[in-house]
Amino acid sequence: DVAVKKEVLDKARELGVKFVRLQFTDIFGTLKNVAITVEQLEKALDGELMFDGSSIHGFTRIEESDMYLRPDPNTFTVFPWRPREGAVARLICDVYNPDGTPFEGCPRYALKRVLAEAKEMGYTMNVGPECEFFLFNVDKDGKPTTETHDQAGYFDMTPVDLGENARRDMVLTLEDMGFEIEASHHEVAPGQHEIDFKYSDALDVADKIMTFKFVVRTIAQRHGLHATFMPKPIFGINGSGMHMNQSLFTLDGKNAFYDPSTPDQLSETAKYYIGGLIKHARSFAALTNSSVNSYKRLVPGYEAPCYVAWSGRNRSPLIRIPAKRGMSTRIELRNPDPACNPYLAIAAALKAGLDGIKNKITPPPPTDRNIYTMTAAEREELGIASLPASLREALMELKSNPVICSVLGEHILERFIEAKTKEWDEFRVTVHDWEVKKYLTLY
Ligand code: ADP
Ligand code: MG
Ligand code: MG
Ligand code: MG
Ligand code: MG
Repeated sequence: DVAVKKEVLDKARELGVKFVRLQFTDIFGTLKNVAITVEQLEKALDGELMFDGSSIHGFTRIEESDMYLRPDPNTFTVFPWRPREGAVARLICDVYNPDGTPFEGCPRYALKRVLAEAKEMGYTMNVGPECEFFLFNVDKDGKPTTETHDQAGYFDMTPVDLGENARRDMVLTLEDMGFEIEASHHEVAPGQHEIDFKYSDALDVADKIMTFKFVVRTIAQRHGLHATFMPKPIFGINGSGMHMNQSLFTLDGKNAFYDPSTPDQLSETAKYYIGGLIKHARSFAALTNSSVNSYKRLVPGYEAPCYVAWSGRNRSPLIRIPAKRGMSTRIELRNPDPACNPYLAIAAALKAGLDGIKNKITPPPPTDRNIYTMTAAEREELGIASLPASLREALMELKSNPVICSVLGEHILERFIEAKTKEWDEFRVTVHDWEVKKYLTLY
């Protein structure tokens, strides 16, 4: 530990770092920063820097507001877009109580707890996210619009595609920061993009998703664009998802989902994991799809799942098993969207899978037919449930499931339910454009 600390201090000196941002994520998936100067770095690495937790939404009550940040030295990275001189670096932190115990409201700690449970069962978890987002124009006053450059480009005389340029810059920046980018491409909808980075250990990936969103937004801004991870910004075209490819490795590094001796080369462990995901999907939806808007994406017709089923072949169900085997044997969970808190979403999916393994939950047979063309009666006969249709339904499902609730612990659960119920109520009482269009002249 002393060696790692020294390495960070040396690196900071070598790279001329002047400012360090201590980062952590709140319950709702928002990245928070406390900036320090490099002179305070050593003290920070010793976990001696305090901040006022009561200023962070959903974090803590005022009477217990002193919190400590403990940086994870492995997360030290310099922001490549900032000037070389007086460089800016960041460290991702765990949040601790004044008495030195981990803070219950820290989502990173919630993920660590489930990862420890997996380890006890003999597994590490790998995650490979496919993060989609839109690049929108900003207006004359710099305010984001929902107009894409692709659309505007139709009338535009400039030969360059702003979006493509921005995406190239994002990829280069992420690579500078240690990401291994596997693919980056234009998505189905105008102005929509996807950048995929290589899978790794779940905690590292959750940290990376937070960094990814921050980098994409920052670079977009520098190109005069607004990047959004809102799940469904425009009605009538595809929304943005964040498919979560996941697998368990045994502690000696073998893929626990791969078994060449079975007909589909999936192990019993993989099957039980799928069984667990299917059993708990309706309850972890509140965490993988945590906004009112998330449920506007989970509708038929736009490649997003709305039914709880799995298949090796088609892309309509919640869970797809990509054809790759060997070390790449994995389960693709297709409902998460990039507005989720990645720590909580990954923790919940893992918990569901582990519950499947522990209790030997056999999944229903795979559904290789197109579920969208089935009637409700056919779905019922096959036992295919629907994902929650709204945040409200998702919250009720979450509350009724002790396994998924246990992922969050009391502190996060209470605040999450309270804030998200309020979010739903705000939406519920608002009069929306749709209503005015529909009823103003009708009645
Ligand atoms: P799709 O075919 O759904 O578009 P992509 O090729 O875009 O999939 O992304 C696949 C993702 O799966 C990548 O992030 C990749 O690193 C990841 N992946 C590959 N092998 C594994 C594995 N064993 N466990 C978890 N994720 C994996
Ligand atoms: Mg993809
Ligand atoms: Mg692909
Ligand atoms: Mg995609
Ligand atoms: Mg995919």
